[in-house]
Amino acid sequence: MSLDAAVAEARDRFAAANPRSRAAHERAAASMPGGNTRTTLFYPPFPLTMARADGCRLTDLDGHTYVDLLGDYTAGLYGHNNPVIRKAVDAALDGGWNLGAHGEHEARLAAVLCARFPSLDLVRFTNSGTEANLLAIATATTHTGRRTVLVFDGGYHGSVLAVGDGGVPDNGPHLFVLGEYNDLAATGRLVDEHAGDLAAILVEPMLGSGGCVPATPEFLELLRRGASETGAVLVFDEVMTSRMAGGGMQELFGVTPDMTTLGKYTGGGMTFGAFGGRAELMARYDPRRPGAVPHAGTFNNNVFSMAAGYAGLTELFPPEASEALFARGERLRAELNGACDGVAMRWTGLGSMLTVHFQREPISAPRDMRRTPAHRELFHLDMLHRGFHLARRGMIALSLATGDAECAAFTAAVTEFIAEHGPLLK
Ligand code: PLP
Repeated sequence: MSLDAAVAEARDRFAAANPRSRAAHERAAASMPGGNTRTTLFYPPFPLTMARADGCRLTDLDGHTYVDLLGDYTAGLYGHNNPVIRKAVDAALDGGWNLGAHGEHEARLAAVLCARFPSLDLVRFTNSGTEANLLAIATATTHTGRRTVLVFDGGYHGSVLAVGDGGVPDNGPHLFVLGEYNDLAATGRLVDEHAGDLAAILVEPMLGSGGCVPATPEFLELLRRGASETGAVLVFDEVMTSRMAGGGMQELFGVTPDMTTLGKYTGGGMTFGAFGGRAELMARYDPRRPGAVPHAGTFNNNVFSMAAGYAGLTELFPPEASEALFARGERLRAELNGACDGVAMRWTGLGSMLTVHFQREPISAPRDMRRTPAHRELFHLDMLHRGFHLARRGMIALSLATGDAECAAFTAAVTEFIAEHGPLLK
């Protein structure tokens, strides 16, 4: 069977099995473009509509249950309906919300983050990772009086900060220069070329949306040196990667940026973002100082995110838990790559984040990736059929609720996929 025929068959099977999701999508399309308000969640022929979730499982409108391997693109680290998070949110509800005032929750969460992440002397909260990165860039341009921001191909820093493949037409009013991820020589040249106007270097220590491609330690060290020599602000976007160790990838790789942005699970699964860094940079937001830079935001200290974030980090995800999750992810990636040995399929990533690629060639940057949308669709629909929920682009982010049994079952499902579709994976 050809690849196109296999995809068509998988689509038909999917559509026949999910009439309620199809109807829900058609209703939604009457009032939202394409029935969608978060592009990442859409896939053809129509996305599943989930009705409920528990632990590491999701159930859709048609009553199918899936092992949730996506973990809401890392935001769902704690698993669904985690009782600790639930208790923290319930307690926050009891105390009231929309206080329009300082609360006690935000200072507690800030203290934990500053204690854990090497680069954080001071931190402030936002409502999303996008906003956190916009604020980090604004901090850097204000601090340096410069405009240029070096970003990297395949980087995703938010809905209006998306560069490379899948980028958006307008990335906010900044002067971006696009570098090649993990390319030491080209990056060194770019830094030299823009030295006089370089405000910030913004980088994900591992490309997340861009295919789970980790930076090499040498690359991050080069960026550290480049920023220090030019006076630019080095920003690590750890919105996804902060889960890799108690103090994020900056701790794992021993490279400390000037600023860090956070998001996703760090707010306990509630809406969240944070930016922080060296005291000298962040102190400009201190409202007690003359000429302080304002940073408003109605929901910056919303009680749910602040309380859930604190409970999650202190009760569920101490540094030892991040190490155990990292190890589980490393084992899973090794097992999956073992299962894919001999076919054009490989898994990249680090720790609990991984992405499948349909090629044999190794990948150390986006330019190494083959474009294989039909393979990705076939794999995604096939895995849904076998009861595993992951991203259409093939990304997985393990949650704390996903155990060894689920990892083993997934590896078995991938083995079956290969047995069935081997001729399409040459
Ligand atoms: N930075 C990275 C590395 C991300 O992966 C994301 C979201 O996927 C963001 C920033 C943006 O975060 P948010 O979706 O909360 O705006």
